[in-house]
Amino acid sequence: MEQTGKQDDLSARLSARIDDMRDALVAVTQDLIRIPTLNPPGENYAAICEYLEQRLKASGFETRLIRAEGAPGDSDRYPRWNIVARREGKRPGDCVHFNSHTDVVEVGHGWTCDPFGAELRDGRIYGRGACDMKGGLATSIIAAEAFLAECPDFAGAIEISGTADEESGGYGGVAYLAEQGFFDPARVQHVIIPEPLNKDRICLGHRGGWWAEIETKGEIAHGSMPFLGDCAVRHMGAVLDAFEETLFPAMAARWTEMPVVPDGARQSTMNINSIHGGQPEQPADYTGLPAHCVPDSCRIVIDRRFLIEENVDGVRAEITNLLDGLKSSRPDFDYELREINRVIPSMTDRDAPIVTTVDAAIRSVMGTEPAYVASPGSYDQKHIDRIGKLKNCIAYGPGVLELAHKPDEWIGVGDMVDSAKVMARTLQSLLAQ
Ligand SMILES: [Zn+2]
Repeated sequence: MEQTGKQDDLSARLSARIDDMRDALVAVTQDLIRIPTLNPPGENYAAICEYLEQRLKASGFETRLIRAEGAPGDSDRYPRWNIVARREGKRPGDCVHFNSHTDVVEVGHGWTCDPFGAELRDGRIYGRGACDMKGGLATSIIAAEAFLAECPDFAGAIEISGTADEESGGYGGVAYLAEQGFFDPARVQHVIIPEPLNKDRICLGHRGGWWAEIETKGEIAHGSMPFLGDCAVRHMGAVLDAFEETLFPAMAARWTEMPVVPDGARQSTMNINSIHGGQPEQPADYTGLPAHCVPDSCRIVIDRRFLIEENVDGVRAEITNLLDGLKSSRPDFDYELREINRVIPSMTDRDAPIVTTVDAAIRSVMGTEPAYVASPGSYDQKHIDRIGKLKNCIAYGPGVLELAHKPDEWIGVGDMVDSAKVMARTLQSLLAQ
């Protein structure tokens, strides 16, 4: 009884403190948005890491700045800087790690406000990265600071990382840190990635991805005598027909147990990213006529997203089998397939400790039942899972996913406050025993 009373009292104090820190939460979010960390090319990673270092040092964290030297995209002009901040507790225990990416996608068109102005209007902060995911990063900082103020004698450790390049695959960020051992289950036991999945939803993982370029081959000839050559674009037409007749229906028939949102992404999917064959495209102001040639090459790039029930070798084989079938049935058909990238699906068990803890925190802070989701696209959980071998990881954070990457992106201050309370309550459950 005594213990329960103490815990209830701490919960109430954490929530009250976070309410008092509302202005600080807004200020940190605005500061982060005003550092334009556009990726590509990967600008201002040093500046945002220095800002985070200053902020977290003041809250008693030890900080390390790590450059992902040699990672894709890393250069002296655009160095891939990351920060890992750690605050040790008074006695041994678990480490809870909050990981946020610091990069944002291009601004694009259609903004009605300054994308890096971080304007606060009607309880929303506007700017590129507001919801994806500088608001989530700020929320985790305020949650940790509130917890440290109310529970200075906690057990274990709290870590906060700010990492580069999530929007371009995470190789200069979380993947690099995982390779260096930062997500070794011996030093980190629980990971929350505050991506904008809505404040009352727990994201268990994401689908996998497989990207490849397929090229069909032909033979060049004069366009007036196509029978003297072999048209690579027609061969690609046969590939696309086979996709329509066989592959797309087969993929649509698969249905995952993963709670992927939106519903359409509970199937296997494939996008054809690009197609190109024949002469290079001319600039829009070119006034010449095309030369008459039979194309000897046609290329497409495919983006295949797959389910936890599938495996990447099967995904690849399904496509190569189809192409090999054309090779044996269609005269002069030849192709080359070049794999571009592969990402494994990741899915944390519903009874994993971080899941049940955040579930209970959402119920107690918001009085609602949390929804479970999985992401159609991937995020940095894949590296924590595959390279770090750490399974106890979820995405949980404030913000509306549909606003990510759009003009006039915003984050609601009230949502951040609620989410900070959930995160602080989670720290209480895991570290204040
Ligand atoms: Zn994101």
